[in-house]
Parts: sequence; C-alpha cells; structure tokens
Amino acid sequence: MLTCRIHAKEDMRVEPIADPDIGPGQVLIRLGAGGICGSDIHYYFEGRNGSFVIREPLVPGHEVSGVIAKVGAGVTRVKAGDKVAVSPSHACGQCEYCREGREQLCRNMRFLGSASVFPHVQGMFAEYFVLGERQCYPVSGEVSLGELAFAEPLAVALHAVNRVGALIGKSVLVTGGGTIGCLTVIAARLGGATSVTVSDVLDRPLDTARAAGADRVLRADRDAELLAIPQFDVAFEASGSLAALKSCVASTKRGGTIVQVGTLPHEPLPFVVNEIMVKELDFKGAFRWGIEFDWAVQYLSSGRVDVRPLLSGRFPLQDAVHAFELAKDKSRSTKVQLVAA
Ligand code: ZN
Repeated sequence: MLTCRIHAKEDMRVEPIADPDIGPGQVLIRLGAGGICGSDIHYYFEGRNGSFVIREPLVPGHEVSGVIAKVGAGVTRVKAGDKVAVSPSHACGQCEYCREGREQLCRNMRFLGSASVFPHVQGMFAEYFVLGERQCYPVSGEVSLGELAFAEPLAVALHAVNRVGALIGKSVLVTGGGTIGCLTVIAARLGGATSVTVSDVLDRPLDTARAAGADRVLRADRDAELLAIPQFDVAFEASGSLAALKSCVASTKRGGTIVQVGTLPHEPLPFVVNEIMVKELDFKGAFRWGIEFDWAVQYLSSGRVDVRPLLSGRFPLQDAVHAFELAKDKSRSTKVQLVAA
C-alpha cells in the first residue's frame, strides 16, 4: 500500500510500505477522502507548523473519512463496509483537562499527523491505516466521503463559535475566507448571528464565503477604512495574519470578543494590548475541538450543513505534490482532498 510522507521541507514522497497489522480493538480503514489543511501545507512547504518542527518523516493528514476494511477482535462500534468520519484526536481521557471535558487541552494529547510530540504521531494520507475503534464515527445515508472529510475542520469552526457561546443578535466578523473562515461563517449562522461579514485579500475566498452564507464581504486591502470602524460584537481571526488580527481589534465594539482560530507566523509579534485593555475586549484562543467533532458529524450526515461549495479539487494520493501546490494557492482553491487511487 502507498503512504505519503514528508521527509523535510519541500520533500514529500508517496512510498510503498508494508500492509499494517491490526490488533484487538483496532480497525483497518481505507482512505475515503483526506482534506489538505493549512497545517499540512506548512509542514510541506516550511518543514514546520508554528512551533511544531518536523524531526523525522511525517505522514500528514488529519481531516479524513474512510471505509472500514477489516475489524480486529472485540470491535463493536463499527463493522466492515461502514462509512466513517475519523477523529484524529487521541486524548488520554485521564488528565485534569480531559476530565473537565476539554480534551483539546489534554496534557498527553497525541494528535494524528502532527509533529507536536516526538516521535511524531503519523497521519492518515495513506491508502490504508490502522486506528482504535473509538476514533471512528460511522454514518449512514447519502453524505459522501468527500463531505464527511469536512468533519474535522467543521469541528474547529464549531468549537471557535462555542468558545463565545450564543451568537443570537450578534454581528460577526470573520477574517480569512479559507476553509476555516467559511466553516466559521456556517457555524456563526448556526449560532444565531444576525449578520456575518468576511474579509480577505483575495476575491476567490470572498466568493466562496458568500456561497457559504456570508452576508457581506470586504477586501481587507481596499476596504481598510471600513475595517477600522468599531461595528462587530464578535470577531473570529481565521487567516493567521497579524494585519487581520489588528483589523479584528479595530473593528470590534467596546466590550466585544475576539477569538483567535488561525495560527500566526512563528516570529515574535508586536501586539495591540493597549487597545484590548481600553476597549475591554475578551481575547480568546480556540484550539482544535472536543465534543464539537460529534456535532460536526451530525450536521454533515443530516445535510443541515452543506460544505460542497468549499470543495475545489480532488487528487489521487500519488499526485500529492500537485494537490499540495493547488491547496497552497488560495486564488485557485479552498479545500483540496486526496483520495485512495
Ligand atoms: Zn488528557
């Protein structure tokens, strides 16, 4: 079987490896669709994602759906042939954070496709991969494997909104019209926002944001004066850009809330703390997700959330390099997925 591995910056290979064995409680999954995430792109093009640096070959990929190929002894949650969304989160379930229901803060987290620990936890851009049954969320019905692979990024967006709570009656800004930005638009609408505005520096992400349900879109470069007016109750920074974070601080009303979802560059950042202080802004981080993965699977499998406007390309695993190049170019793509050939 083939697996995709990043050996170093700009050195990604699709290589044959031995078929994996499965033990008790484990399942063998055939890749259905795997979305290329911003973090995968950082790993490939920079050899690092924020402070997580590649120190040994890393199989990327954590936004994955699949079909159960084989089950090990004692497995009850799924059976061969089941269509599943795959959770990439291995929290310990024992630490103080897990016990209070915030598994994304787990002290012993092993998140698939991440160089956050060493040895790295390998991801799922492979024809077949083995996981414990509790990582699998079986679904029935019409939802496609491509749509189901959005469960992970949708969970990120649901978690970002859930960090604020109810948005009923609130005006919302989302900076960045990429996958997470567009899914945050969807999540903010589910949360009750009266209006959702999206800013970006490219037209294509703004068109996608409109398709995802944004009420208003702004070009951050051309509409800078509009983004300097305090007008939003809540801002979600989903671009990973310091300039966008500054727009959030400027355009959020006094007493408002900013949620940081994007990963900013690794360099030391000058920060606008005084504005946060005098406006009494609440500045919150949103990292991955907890229970929201279950919710994402439900929203997708019921058809209540339609992610199809976000899916802009699909490549066989062997063409991973081309897929990553397209995924990096936000003037041409939103979400690009890999599929087993
Ligand atoms: Zn834990």
